[in-house]
Amino acid sequence: MAATQLKCELSWSASRAKEFERCRRENWYSRYGSWGWWTEKPRGEKFDIMVHKNLTSLPAFTGDVIHRAIERWFQLRKAGSNMNAMELFEEAREMFRLGWRQSSTDGWKERPNKSTHMFEHHYQWDISAERTNAARDLMMRSTKFFMESPQLEPVRLVAPENWLAVESLDTYQFLGTKVYAVPDFAYQEEEKVHIWDWKTGKPREDDIFQLYTYALYACERWQTDPEDIILHAAYLGAGQVQDIPVQIDRLSEAQDRMSMSLREMMDIHYDPDVDDYFAENWKPTGAPDNCRFCRYKGMCDAAPQS
Ligand code: SF4
Repeated sequence: MAATQLKCELSWSASRAKEFERCRRENWYSRYGSWGWWTEKPRGEKFDIMVHKNLTSLPAFTGDVIHRAIERWFQLRKAGSNMNAMELFEEAREMFRLGWRQSSTDGWKERPNKSTHMFEHHYQWDISAERTNAARDLMMRSTKFFMESPQLEPVRLVAPENWLAVESLDTYQFLGTKVYAVPDFAYQEEEKVHIWDWKTGKPREDDIFQLYTYALYACERWQTDPEDIILHAAYLGAGQVQDIPVQIDRLSEAQDRMSMSLREMMDIHYDPDVDDYFAENWKPTGAPDNCRFCRYKGMCDAAPQS
């Protein structure tokens, strides 16, 4: 049987929308320039773009290991086992060490699309002891808050049969396009659905928008009434939780914002296997402000030379 031909289809997520807003050229690299890298023989530009696409940063990587350690906690809880705060921290720290080793050596090269490869190592930035200590402290504070905070007790105590999602990547259709949703944790309590998002950075207005897009997902996926959805932004490092009962007008604003963002993307979406590339559509709109921390700055001709 012939292998199914993959097609570069448009999809939407809150993080893709942010990338699109930040810089059209960056969005092109991530979604179109790297498309088909697995078919490129010999390896060339597409592969190189994919390597840059996979770059993470020290703060993003630290947040990722905290998420993965918590996901592991849920797996053990489901299997009837448990971890205390120190064990959860050790889990995160071990993941951090593994990723650091891959990134700081050539370890990432074996599977560049599946390994940890940090921006700071790639661009040979010095990573000070203060920054690595801050990453360790963040892991420590976050895991302790997750395990010991009274505000997170409902998360720790809810029975696995009431869980609806744990870091599950799922999609739904909106305006005929696939929309990605990855709620960190969702559970049902009587008629209420609680959706939690673990945050390891500072609170931002966009966090609430992202949570509202998960509320739209809950309406679609579990047919939940909007009034029965409660969103929770848990700022683990800061030790704060924002509880946000869904308001219909804010849900409708989030839907309008998604719709606008998606239509802008639709206007210039193309299939790089079939259609021509129009440079006009993918201008370096993020330059120069966003270039310093952009993954593609080493290959983008619009990035200021430093
Ligand atoms: S280096 Fe600057 S212009 Fe180029 S993709 Fe990144 S943000 Fe955009």
